[in-house]
Amino acid sequence: MALNDNAGGAMRLLLVEDDEMIAETVLESMRRVGYAVDWAQDGRAAELSLDNGVYDLVLLDLGLPGKNGIDVLSSYRKQGGEAPVIILTARDAVTDRIRGLDAGADDYLIKPFDLDELAARARALLRRRTGQKQPIYTHGELTLDPAAHEVTKGSLPITLVPREFALLQALIEEPARVFTRAELEDKLYGWGEEVGSNTIEVHVHSLRRKIGVDQIVTVRGVGYRLKRCG
Ligand code: CA
Repeated sequence: MALNDNAGGAMRLLLVEDDEMIAETVLESMRRVGYAVDWAQDGRAAELSLDNGVYDLVLLDLGLPGKNGIDVLSSYRKQGGEAPVIILTARDAVTDRIRGLDAGADDYLIKPFDLDELAARARALLRRRTGQKQPIYTHGELTLDPAAHEVTKGSLPITLVPREFALLQALIEEPARVFTRAELEDKLYGWGEEVGSNTIEVHVHSLRRKIGVDQIVTVRGVGYRLKRCG
């Protein structure tokens, strides 16, 4: 079973945070490094998102309107939710931190936190998770290793930016499938994230330049798939 039940593409994160300024900053920086990030602004919205979405990582504020973060986390774990969770707490809230870890959090950060540190903690948790579960994909001459974040063609390493990598991962996980542009947007971006009308075409274009124009086939009026091989 694939780690990511929404079938690959970018790692998908859920940010649960009621403070808009903090949320905007975290969203911007996590999206810039290539994660698809959804944002829930209160405890109830967080529960809805966790019920309906599949996340690789959750960033969870504890002081939330509606339902507090500890309760959200406990019920998520009780229902079998396995995504790693980083709690975001105030400096003086030591008991909250302990309760959060007891309730099943994997790590915590004290506000105000450094965005680079958040990214590093997120990477560490995601690596642990992907290292355990993700296979290496090969298709013709192409090889994609999600855990190491490496792509090679033949024996040549290819450097991709995060969205190109996520796009190729989506395609190579289901090489026979034709993906519509909407499906690819869904995999590469979080809810409410501005996606230009030709964004996917732009990513396909730049990915083709790096891996070979013939590697990605345009299925007219439908979308894209990898070329057939073998
Ligand atoms: Ca809060």
